[in-house]
Amino acid sequence: MTQATLSPTSRTSATFKNLQCKECGAEYEPKATHVCEFCFGPLEVAYDYNELRRQVTRETIKSGPNSIWRYRAFLPVTSENPIDVGTGMTPLVKSNRLARRLGLKNLYIKNDAVNMPTLSFKDRVVSVALTRARELGFSTVSCASTGNLANSTAAIAAHAGLDCCVFIPADLEAGKVLGTLIYNPTVMAVEGNYDQVNRLCCEVANTHGWGFVNINLRPYYSEGSKTLGFEVAEQLGWELPDHIVAPLASGSLYTKIYKGFQEFIKVGLVDEKAVRFSGAQAQGCSPIAQAYQDGRDFITPVKPSTIAKSIAIGNPADGVYALEIAHKTGGSIESVTDAEIIDGMKLLAETEGIFTETAGGTTIAVLKKLVEAGKIDPEEKTVVFITGNGLKTQEAVQGYIGEPFTIEAKLDSFERALERSRTLGRLEWQQVLV
Ligand SMILES: *Cc1c(COP(=O)(O)O)cnc(C)c1O
Ligand SMILES: [Zn+2]
Repeated sequence: MTQATLSPTSRTSATFKNLQCKECGAEYEPKATHVCEFCFGPLEVAYDYNELRRQVTRETIKSGPNSIWRYRAFLPVTSENPIDVGTGMTPLVKSNRLARRLGLKNLYIKNDAVNMPTLSFKDRVVSVALTRARELGFSTVSCASTGNLANSTAAIAAHAGLDCCVFIPADLEAGKVLGTLIYNPTVMAVEGNYDQVNRLCCEVANTHGWGFVNINLRPYYSEGSKTLGFEVAEQLGWELPDHIVAPLASGSLYTKIYKGFQEFIKVGLVDEKAVRFSGAQAQGCSPIAQAYQDGRDFITPVKPSTIAKSIAIGNPADGVYALEIAHKTGGSIESVTDAEIIDGMKLLAETEGIFTETAGGTTIAVLKKLVEAGKIDPEEKTVVFITGNGLKTQEAVQGYIGEPFTIEAKLDSFERALERSRTLGRLEWQQVLV
């Protein structure tokens, strides 16, 4: 297959070659396809690493845009002008108060709660998927979502002028539904859980000619998560951390942070280093954590029941690959209860001033659990990935946080309330947390 025989829509850049089956290695033209015809394995984007090594230096990256597109050579697009809505380059914050509370010396927080435009890491994968969708000639884009993906797809489709129809489970948090509807896409709220939504979408993808970012465009979509790994390496001064802790839904994000680190090593942008990969799930939907704890190398699907809806995938597509990475790197995959998730959200907010959603609460709670179990060394350079914003899942903490003192607009009313707050109010809440 030479460049000249490819149709214009599937023309590739010099660094991005084709799709390859992750299981049997069969090669495919880079179109809207995601499953191997021979072995049903997932397809993944392949690159020419010699060409990447020739083209990319730390300087070429640093002189690029202040967004994920500074890593364009590592992403599966051919456009000179990809859809750039300022996604990526979110803060990597050195933790002081949370680190001290947990007894860690070298903790960093990668804060995608403030990713643009819709305040979750999903903006990364959608920016890449919709850029590719446009290159492949799609005019309607879609997704099967646990909430954040619908927000991102609707927002970035609006920006790019693409028609959009998204599918969500009918029981999502109000903030996630409103945060999709505002962009005026078609929203299908499906009476069922995410896995049922996903099955329906697979059928729709086969019958309508739409670009589903996480189904027929999944090989391109998933590459967007590598940018989390790239940014962490660059923000640490072109160095890899010792240990990462990330949430797992389908397992895609976690496996792609790994791929990102490996690619930076391969092309010589960072020194080789063994990074331990730990993963976080909610106990109410923890098929990957359960397989890890049982020492199984296969996933048994579960029916989700947790407040951490954004990571509630009962049949995770990349679960076995995530397991493999945890084992091979010496990491661990743990789960936490809904009560621990709420405590995790509050702990991050009160120590670092970061309001994350339930997925972030899950990750912080697992971080705490790993430290308590002696699975993270206090000296290790550890990066914890906060992937979404707490304003979208307000229901989760309602009833578990303090309340305002309602007072008259008079000084003595304020003084009385302040007195009361010193005896109960805030102090009481702080004591609960100590
Ligand atoms: C989707 C999502 C994840 C994880 O997604 P994967 O399917 O594992 O890639 C993590 N956090 C948040 C907030 C999400 O929306
Ligand atoms: Zn195959």
